Amino acid sequence: MTACINTVAFHGIEGQGLDVQVKISNGFSNCTIVGSSYSHQALSILIFLAVISFLILLPGQAVAQVRINDVSGLNETIVSEIRTPVTEEDVQEAIREALSSNKKISIAGRRHSQGGHIMTDQAIVLDMTGFNKIINLDVPASLLRVQSGVTWAQIQDYLNPRGLAVKVQQSSNIFTVGGSLGANIHGRDPRFGTIIDTIRSFRIVTPRGEILTVSREENADLFSLAIGGYGLFGVITEVELEVVQNSVLRRINSVMSCKDYISFLDKNIRNDPKIEVHYARPDITKRNFMKSCLVTSYIRMADKPEQLQPLMQEKLVEGSKWLLNLSRKTDWGKDARWFIQEALLDETGAPEIISRNNAMRPPIEFLDYKSEADTDVLQEYFIPIGNSESFISDLGKIVSNENINILSITLRFIKKDDQSSLPYAVEDGVAFVLYINHGKDESAIAHAKLWTQKIIDAALRNNGTYYLTYANYASREQFAAAYPLGVNFFEKKRFYDPSLVFMNKFYEMYGD
Ligand SMILES: Cc1cc2nc3c(=O)[nH]c(=O)nc-3n(C[C@H](O)[C@H](O)[C@H](O)COP(=O)(O)OP(=O)(O)OC[C@H]3O[C@@H](n4cnc5c(N)ncnc54)[C@H](O)[C@@H]3O)c2cc1C
Repeated sequence: MTACINTVAFHGIEGQGLDVQVKISNGFSNCTIVGSSYSHQALSILIFLAVISFLILLPGQAVAQVRINDVSGLNETIVSEIRTPVTEEDVQEAIREALSSNKKISIAGRRHSQGGHIMTDQAIVLDMTGFNKIINLDVPASLLRVQSGVTWAQIQDYLNPRGLAVKVQQSSNIFTVGGSLGANIHGRDPRFGTIIDTIRSFRIVTPRGEILTVSREENADLFSLAIGGYGLFGVITEVELEVVQNSVLRRINSVMSCKDYISFLDKNIRNDPKIEVHYARPDITKRNFMKSCLVTSYIRMADKPEQLQPLMQEKLVEGSKWLLNLSRKTDWGKDARWFIQEALLDETGAPEIISRNNAMRPPIEFLDYKSEADTDVLQEYFIPIGNSESFISDLGKIVSNENINILSITLRFIKKDDQSSLPYAVEDGVAFVLYINHGKDESAIAHAKLWTQKIIDAALRNNGTYYLTYANYASREQFAAAYPLGVNFFEKKRFYDPSLVFMNKFYEMYGD
């Protein structure tokens, strides 16, 4: 009899609600009671009581909570559900349901934004990774049409055998196209600006449930709002983006002082059409913080390879992880890592002559880090070239005074963005990408917020901005100073989405 009750109770928990009744009577009629004189009616009451007490004793199981977090591990949020739509009708259905039940919708790609952009409390989260099809390649027009949950890695797999490559993506290829549009990302090709420059059109399901084609000619207002709109203007479902030849590049490395590097970037990099990938890595050790820089440029040798270079896979992951961890935990580890980087001049082990696709898939797996106690986060600041030296000096002081555990810094050229509604690249400048480790406990987070605000103040003093895709530690005043167009952006949000059905913590922090 016990086994029978357990079975019934289990069905009841699984089915919940009305289903419990049905399963109980089913279970009951299947029970065989050996050596019992109970009537069916008495047994029925007993089973009913057992189910009720089981539900009362295990409330956690009866009401399961759905949690979501981003890659920083600092934004765990309880949501109502996570759904993976695969058609535009699925998205429309979710919007209908949210509007009729007064719920919110948030949108997630690979969840690498770090400031609550993919969630809000009790939202229906649309996980867009199910929208993962490559739709069409128009070779003469150099245009690729994909669904928005496709990653750059998938696109590289598709384009490489066809001799083509992406125009703008992040430094690495793990992100979705939709998430990249959501943040209006930038890459390492100094010839191109943020991704908006390379988008021809997209389809979007709006907060009212309409499906629109959006381009510079059609529904143009939404073109500049949804790119860099952090999912607040609807769900992007398909994207038409420009592609280029998978050219042959030669890697050139050098070492110079960071001071010299800024003028080198200005004079030698920003206007050279042959440089297709460029970045610099400053020394981040305590003794010589941002004194010298390892500078890497990939210069075009030929438009097309004579032979297709297969896509390279990441090597030496464990070794690189070990070295990074050493520098995460100790100052001498940072010294050792810099010593090795400087000696080798290139930490990727990639060949000197390399295809564009391969130069656009640097190692990333070694960054994967899970710890209960601490986390690695990113921050980024965009500073006019002329003020970069002064920002370096300000940054050095803050890092030293606040004892910030910087793991790496990358410098890149960033071209002015005059198309998106919330631009971070307000003029040609230097992008400072900071990779930082800090604790997850309350006081460590409060400290991270404090020094982040100090760095943002330094960026603002130097007429710069900060990247919105990372932790939302900036005060509302700092946001307003860095993004004066924010007022108009959020007014448009309320115009296109009067019910505020698309919601996330970014809007809650700065949009209200
Ligand atoms: C290790 C690392 C390296 C990085 N390197 C770079 C870099 O080189 N350059 C750079 O610019 N950034 C960089 N970033 C930041 C990164 O590009 C952004 O956070 C990007 O948004 C991540 O893409 P995702 O697929 O994870 O998007 P998510 O974080 O899942 O989503 C980002 C935003 O887009 C919205 N969104 C997602 N899909 C859709 C959709 N289909 N329709 C509408 N809105 C949508 C979301 O609601 C959210 O607001 C890096 C981040 C990390 C962690």
